[in-house]
Amino acid sequence: MSFDDPTTAARVLVLSGPSGSGKSTIVDRLVLESPVKVREAVSATTRSPRPDEVDGKDYYFLEQDEFSARRERGEFLECAEVHGVGDWYGTPRSELERAEAEEAWALLEIDVEGALNVMEKCPDALTIFLLAPSMEEYRRRLESRGTESAEVIARRIKTAGREVQRAERYRYRVINDHLDRAVGEIIDILSAWEDTYRA
Ligand code: 5GP
Repeated sequence: MSFDDPTTAARVLVLSGPSGSGKSTIVDRLVLESPVKVREAVSATTRSPRPDEVDGKDYYFLEQDEFSARRERGEFLECAEVHGVGDWYGTPRSELERAEAEEAWALLEIDVEGALNVMEKCPDALTIFLLAPSMEEYRRRLESRGTESAEVIARRIKTAGREVQRAERYRYRVINDHLDRAVGEIIDILSAWEDTYRA
């Protein structure tokens, strides 16, 4: 653990899973329902906002130049180009500090590459990989969202296949077969970890 960097000691919950695995819904539920306090870390990204997305809530939407400048100043705990189309995503360290100040776990909803970086920087991070019951189910969920083109969906499914292969690097894997059950399982895991932190 680095003593120069207070964020490496923060309580961090990393949740990854392919597009269509139901991550965003689970994140919302955890923030509302978890008896162990959880605060969502808002990532920065260079991609354009979707119609229903709000700056500062869903993401901090940044121009490429601004993102690069922040990256060079070391303001991100980790950052990665996701989906290989030039869109960058990063976790601002300030989000971890804010969660810590509220005595909450910082919940990072990030891709596998970012998660592997966080595992190195925060060895005590609780890492959970969320799986949809099947690849067909991923496709169905992505298509029903109706916000992405066929090309984007195809690319995301390809990324999903690669990501699932790396799921064993996470401490836990949770199958999102039923929302209530999956949320309950994550809350149980988190509660057990909170107890070990306090012990
Ligand atoms: P979307 O564009 O659908 O919101 O997110 C695309 C992907 O970027 C998702 O897999 C999500 O987990 C990942 N992502 C979101 N924020 C971050 C971040 O701060 N860092 C990394 N490495 N990935 C992120």
